[in-house]
Amino acid sequence: MNRRVESNHGLAYAIHWADKLSLPVLFYEGLTFDYQYANDRMHTFLLEGVTETEKRLKKLGVGYAFYLRRDKGSPNDIFYRLVADAALIVTDDYPTFIAAAHNAAVPGKVTIPYYVVESSCVAPPSLIPDRQYAAYAIRPKINKLMAEHMKPLVMKAPKRKWDRPKPDFHVVVDSVPKLVASCSIDHSVPPSTTFRGGRLAVESHLKLFLESKLRRYANERNSPSSHATSDMSPYLHFGHISGLELALAVQEYADEHKLMSAEYLEELIVRRELAFNFARTSPKLDSLDILHEWVRNTLAKHDGDERPYLYTRDEFEQAETHDALWNATQKEMLLRGKIHGYYRMYWGKKIIEWSESHRDALATMIYLHDRYALDGRDPNTYTNILWCFGLHDRPWTERPIFGMIRYMGLEGMKRKTNVDGYLKEIGYLERTGKDPFTETQAC
Ligand SMILES: Cc1cc2nc3c(=O)[nH]c(=O)nc-3n(C[C@H](O)[C@H](O)[C@H](O)COP(=O)(O)OP(=O)(O)OC[C@H]3O[C@@H](n4cnc5c(N)ncnc54)[C@H](O)[C@@H]3O)c2cc1C
Repeated sequence: MNRRVESNHGLAYAIHWADKLSLPVLFYEGLTFDYQYANDRMHTFLLEGVTETEKRLKKLGVGYAFYLRRDKGSPNDIFYRLVADAALIVTDDYPTFIAAAHNAAVPGKVTIPYYVVESSCVAPPSLIPDRQYAAYAIRPKINKLMAEHMKPLVMKAPKRKWDRPKPDFHVVVDSVPKLVASCSIDHSVPPSTTFRGGRLAVESHLKLFLESKLRRYANERNSPSSHATSDMSPYLHFGHISGLELALAVQEYADEHKLMSAEYLEELIVRRELAFNFARTSPKLDSLDILHEWVRNTLAKHDGDERPYLYTRDEFEQAETHDALWNATQKEMLLRGKIHGYYRMYWGKKIIEWSESHRDALATMIYLHDRYALDGRDPNTYTNILWCFGLHDRPWTERPIFGMIRYMGLEGMKRKTNVDGYLKEIGYLERTGKDPFTETQAC
């Protein structure tokens, strides 16, 4: 999950052990064709990061091997071949998607030590082991840990440099489109119109955010047409940057330029790490049964209420509802691979309102994220989808379909945001494939 060289606690820990054992370190990255909804968008983003990772590892003196399992015919035992020649394994501690399944299954199949290291959050999630009720509960706990953990991690080179030839399975990423086309995956989901993967891409997004958006973030983050948010979530998800590095960069830039950083750090640290806490402490993430009792009761009472509009999953997917704003948010997902945070809440709330049942709504939201969102399959994905169903929130006035969970309506969006501006921008993106969120004066 942490596909980077900088600020990587797992890699630092591997180097620490390698020095103790007088061994070199190999950084192994694999990409398979058979995870659910594997498609051109996810493969492209991931492959775009590979060459730069390799370059930076070489500079550090760490070996690199990349394996692309293209189809059923390709070997499926590469990891175990490497393990046969290794003293120990260090990998990422991560609560969702393939990493969580690997970490549950692999240690039982190897005979060497298997360490999992957390490097996604600022406050290590294992230090807050109990499920937290809401942001107000986790905030003071995180704040207590900040003094010790909000410090840069300097990557030290291993004493023994990697000097062996590349393993025979290693794949050189010379042409990303060609490699993607050679994989037996879903080719109907194209790469994002906007986001290129990898360290160089995230460094340039970060620079843009610090220099032209951070000063507006506190006041304009809930106004999609202001383009004041950081667009860091795909890079955080694929580990091209760590939460710690990002938090330090924002804090440092804000201090130096006398800007406000608290609002950004609240989202990046408190809200994001609340999601990691939820993902780590919940037995399932795709079920309404894990919500608090008041939520389950109120949803059960209103699940049978008549819906003003009813759409199938396919109609949602194709952005074919009566609501131009909702359709535009879905198009943002289809084209860019994420939705602006403020409209994403509206997107979720309307799927609840226009689906046959609450369970159908949940399944639709998870499906659309897993298939299209570059920041999907993340602790933030499942936690925030469940937030639409009342998780980490408080009871509101009772109303049809929603019961006492929070409602969001089009009138509120029109009052608080520039809906017409956003519709124009998404229209432009759809027509031209150029992204007005990252271009200046595009429209
Ligand atoms: C229905 C729904 C689904 C969502 N699915 C995802 C998802 O799949 N992946 C994902 O990363 N986020 C998800 N979010 C949360 C939020 O919308 C995104 O994190 C945010 O929009 C990412 O854009 P950004 O990087 O420009 O955010 P910024 O506003 O610039 O925030 C910086 C970072 O802070 C964190 N952050 C921001 N808002 C939240 C939040 N509400 N909760 C937790 N962390 C937050 C993210 O890591 C984000 O990258 C979802 C929200 C909703 C309502």
